[in-house]
Amino acid sequence: MSEPMQENTPQEEKPTSFSVSYSCMRCGTRVSQSELTRLPEIKCICGFRVFTKVRPPVVKTVKAY
Ligand SMILES: [Zn+2]
Repeated sequence: MSEPMQENTPQEEKPTSFSVSYSCMRCGTRVSQSELTRLPEIKCICGFRVFTKVRPPVVKTVKAY
């Protein structure tokens, strides 16, 4: 099941216009959401099209089962 799109305000990143970034699953290049929306298609510089969402650093305790 994929994660729902959600906008989080980054706490520890530079105060830029984008809040969510994506990481290419092949080469790991990070692309901001605003950059992706500017592109005609979701595609990395390496040509791969699968990105994982990079969450802003949030201190949170998650139970591991
Ligand atoms: Zn890539």
